[in-house]
Amino acid sequence: MPPKDSDLTPMYRQWAQAKRDFPDVLMLFRMGDFYEMFAEDAEIGAREMGLTLTARKYAGDKRIPMCGVPYHALDRYLRLLVEKGFRAAICEQMEDPRAAKGLVKRQVTRVVTPGTLTEDELLPEDDHNFLVAIHSDGKAAGIAAVDVSTGDFLVTEVDCRAGARTPPAVITDHQSGGVHAPALQPDTTRPEALPLDPQADPLLIAVVEEVRRLRPAEVIIRENDPLRGALPDLGGAIVTSLKDDEPVFLSAAEQLCKHFGVDSLRGYGLEGLSAATGAAAQALRYLQATHMAALPRLASISVYSTNQFMVIDATTRRNLELIESLRGGKQATLVELLDKTRTPMGSRLLRSWIVQPLLDRRQIEQRLDAIENLVQDTILLDALSGHLRSIYDLERLTSRITAGTANARDLRALGLSLARLPEVRQELSGKGETAELLAQLHVQMDDLGDVSDLLARAIADEPPVEITKGGLIREGFNAELDELSYAAAHGREWIAALQDQERARTGIKNLKIGFNNVFGYYIEVTRSFQDLVPEDYHRKQTLTNAERYVTPELKEWESKVLGADERAQELEHKLFCEVRATVAEQSERVLATARALAQVDVLCGLAQAAVEYGYSKPEIIEGHELQIVGGRHPVVERATGEEPFVPNDVRLDCDSNQLMIITGPNMAGKSTYLRQVALIALMAQMGSFVPASSARLGLVDRIFTRVGASDDLATGQSTFMVEMTETANILHNATDRSLIILDEIGRGTSTFDGLSIAWAVAEYIIKQIGAKTLFATHYHHLNELAEILPRVKNLRVLVREEGDRVTFLRKIADGGTDRSYGIQVARLAGLPQEVIERAKEVLRTIEQDDLAVAPSAESTKKIAPTVQLQLFEAAPSPTVEKLKKVDVDTLTPVEALLLLKELQEEAEG
Ligand code: ADP
Repeated sequence: MPPKDSDLTPMYRQWAQAKRDFPDVLMLFRMGDFYEMFAEDAEIGAREMGLTLTARKYAGDKRIPMCGVPYHALDRYLRLLVEKGFRAAICEQMEDPRAAKGLVKRQVTRVVTPGTLTEDELLPEDDHNFLVAIHSDGKAAGIAAVDVSTGDFLVTEVDCRAGARTPPAVITDHQSGGVHAPALQPDTTRPEALPLDPQADPLLIAVVEEVRRLRPAEVIIRENDPLRGALPDLGGAIVTSLKDDEPVFLSAAEQLCKHFGVDSLRGYGLEGLSAATGAAAQALRYLQATHMAALPRLASISVYSTNQFMVIDATTRRNLELIESLRGGKQATLVELLDKTRTPMGSRLLRSWIVQPLLDRRQIEQRLDAIENLVQDTILLDALSGHLRSIYDLERLTSRITAGTANARDLRALGLSLARLPEVRQELSGKGETAELLAQLHVQMDDLGDVSDLLARAIADEPPVEITKGGLIREGFNAELDELSYAAAHGREWIAALQDQERARTGIKNLKIGFNNVFGYYIEVTRSFQDLVPEDYHRKQTLTNAERYVTPELKEWESKVLGADERAQELEHKLFCEVRATVAEQSERVLATARALAQVDVLCGLAQAAVEYGYSKPEIIEGHELQIVGGRHPVVERATGEEPFVPNDVRLDCDSNQLMIITGPNMAGKSTYLRQVALIALMAQMGSFVPASSARLGLVDRIFTRVGASDDLATGQSTFMVEMTETANILHNATDRSLIILDEIGRGTSTFDGLSIAWAVAEYIIKQIGAKTLFATHYHHLNELAEILPRVKNLRVLVREEGDRVTFLRKIADGGTDRSYGIQVARLAGLPQEVIERAKEVLRTIEQDDLAVAPSAESTKKIAPTVQLQLFEAAPSPTVEKLKKVDVDTLTPVEALLLLKELQEEAEG
């Protein structure tokens, strides 16, 4: 029960008012050296941050729970809260408590929420931290994404009225002008959400897909937005519902115009996009409400279209282990492998390149040419990398500078970074042939000589974190400050020296220089020496046996010394703020340069990777063909240990090589092969060199993957349901420009169901979609498709047999498999004999029963080896124990099927 206002002391009443103004957030209430929490907040604080809960009297004998964090540790505790999805208001003391008459004035100065962070300690360095606003009118939806810590402000509109689920991808494979690629958020550590039901509202699906791809820290949406109720999990982002009871006097467009200081939104390409405008304004209002006075400058907004990029949905991003591995974490992912960037801006941009491969051939080729340039000119590459290494996070520094929260160390870091720009530009200015993109980036970059020069002159070498205690400004920047500092440092020395000087001049041996608060500095002479006091001494005070004097010179020094420190600190703070404001005015130039630098950084990083790993430049071709010679899996090839990686070729097109059925025993390398083809296509379209001896690729609009079978225990969805939802998603959305990777489809159900589904899916893809497809399967039966459908080909992974041993050769060859490796695989699995005997007995019993499904003699010949392998593949562990006793190689096909069925039923029961 919250205490009643009337019971409260004035201070608690102040707190209660703050709570009312900011309901639903934890109130961190500054009291002296602590931020205190009370009542329910204190209980949450104690639980979530491990603070010690105490109680404090607030009226009479009544006590209120309380806990607090020391002011200097605030960020650390905020981090804990934000990570757990809490929002917190910071209520500051607005006046010095010592100077306050009565109750200290307090005010909430900032509401900290996961999506609105600017505090360095709370932010991931190499990743964006997006706030996403969704704004829909039921027909169209706007999605705005803002990273206040970097100044990125992006907006898009999804419109499903034309009947399209999502706007179709636009492939530009002719040599046309490019589109601007905004830096967007990739996935990193949060759990992936499940695929949506393909029957759901198309607008909702499109919005959810885009929001999940952005992977925001926080999503805001109006309480009565048509999409609010149906919104599923958004990849772990916290969702903040906005109440509609606030009066808004300006339209969304007017709010944006006011913020950007423009008359119309036409210049941003926002005109006519009312949902997008609504989303952008909603994001802006939320940021203004959370940051209050210290909102970093959001100088510009860019509109992007979701059809500018290859679509990589959450499932595919995960299956291809682009940003996060299937086990979780960054290890053994594409981003970890390719990230050789030197700056945080570059690192963040690389992530967006990876999850947003391009669809415009010219743009891709520009990146490829730039990388080729850097690969061939390693001197240039080394020089650029060297300069980039000493450049700090310009985007986040700028954000703090415009917000007025940057300290002198931030300005110093900015200064040091900017000082490298002329060298970077010099390198890019092109001795000899420079790739077009590098030349463009050279132009987009600004030397920022004025800013760099100001910072070099103004900011001290090693300034402290605090900006009110001096030590910020370099000597020589301001004459008045230098004099003050000089006086402070040398004044006391001078006064000390004066004592000796005056003793010598007057012959008064015990003359003393002293100080008191009333008269300041004085010269003291005892009575016995009164006759030696010179003319220029003015008497100030008479004591019992001494007189005190001052001289004009002493008073002049005194005025310099007294408070010189204090005045110097004040002046330094003022000068520092002026410098910071001057730099803030140039923030757009700094940011534009930072973005160009980020691109240079990513290109250098990719060139570095290409050199180090022996990648080659892919050729982007018109049309649908995909031809890779000597392709490798970029991540697996770095991790095979002793065994050298065996490269493989692929050829996919829309004629005779559209759908490949790939068979081969477990562990032979099928999945690796499938993924490497997808990764090479993706890397090529992000503009990177590829792990292959050569590659010719037609542009792909979307990569779909359905890989493996893993139960989503957390959400209680069965393997089969997840698998089928993902498959449905592919069949609904793939086009003849898509690349589909299917690994072991149909395994979540019984053999016969699974086989039929796999068959029907393959047929549908060929007949209805026409997408290039790689289909790895244990159902050798599917090999028969190649005989029926001309565009289907069979491939197999070669293994060598020596006696009863198999060696995986990792080589892909034409043709299907009909060879059984049952006994060898069984041996590999180390199976003893008894269970096999027992299983045979069981089998004989079932054989007496009716067979519901009896495969024809023709097909059973082909099914047998498949099933044998499946026995080991699909079996849950108790079944494996049983299987260990079956002599698999001696089973007839029908026996094997029956056994499998029986074992499956037993496992399920
Ligand atoms: P499958 O999908 O057929 O079960 P995987 O693709 O998972 O087999 O491969 C199993 C292991 O074999 C991989 O983890 C990898 O270490 C190794 N491997 C796969 N392909 C190759 C290759 N081309 N060269 C060398 N080793 C490979």
